[in-house]
Amino acid sequence: MRVRQGILEKPDSIAGIGVLDLQGGVVEHLEHLATLGLPARRVKGAADLEDLSGLILPGGESTCLIRLLRCGGLDREIAERFNAGLKLWGICAGAVLLAREVVGEIATLIATLGLMDIRIQRNAFGSQLDSFNRTLAVPAVAPEPIPLTFIRAPKILYLGKGVSSLLEIDGYCAAAEDHDSLVTVFHPELTPSLAFHRYFASKCEIQLPTRQTIPTAWRADSWVGYAPIP
Ligand code: GLN
Repeated sequence: MRVRQGILEKPDSIAGIGVLDLQGGVVEHLEHLATLGLPARRVKGAADLEDLSGLILPGGESTCLIRLLRCGGLDREIAERFNAGLKLWGICAGAVLLAREVVGEIATLIATLGLMDIRIQRNAFGSQLDSFNRTLAVPAVAPEPIPLTFIRAPKILYLGKGVSSLLEIDGYCAAAEDHDSLVTVFHPELTPSLAFHRYFASKCEIQLPTRQTIPTAWRADSWVGYAPIP
């Protein structure tokens, strides 16, 4: 909130959504947000969090992200902003960062932000080569089935109080939310679908322009173009 000429204002929508830019997939989120007409910025330090409505914690390598967050004290800054109303969306490694409990890991190596009451298992499908795509309906998010890209994805195994599942596949949860956070174990930013970005914007109470789609020659294996496997 800001005060101007005695009037209390909500932060204007110019503030928009930030994408944590320490490691992992950033540019694809910025592109999706730009396509939706949403102001977005990279978040490398505490000052970049100023006035944001939401923050995307992107996919990448959670053990690396946790160390980088801790080094710069950004873990505490994010937790403080979160307590003050910042909405968070964790994708894959980002979902690991948000989880209160990570199964089968040494706690000191994976001391997450722990801001969402979920239990998660890292690398639950095997190695990078066991990555895959699905197209599934997520009724709360979009009327049409959405392409979903799972890259060395985790599984959400337990949802705490106030957390609800948005997508269940074969007995595990692949997307969940509570009032302030969203987690997806897959990567909507690596598909042409804007549905999850639109959904997160609405969670952040940001008004969106009319519906848009990405003009792209996307194929189910397009994500390997970003991360070629030799
Ligand atoms: N397996 C990675 C981790 O736990 C996550 C992979 C991803 O974000 N695509 O950090």
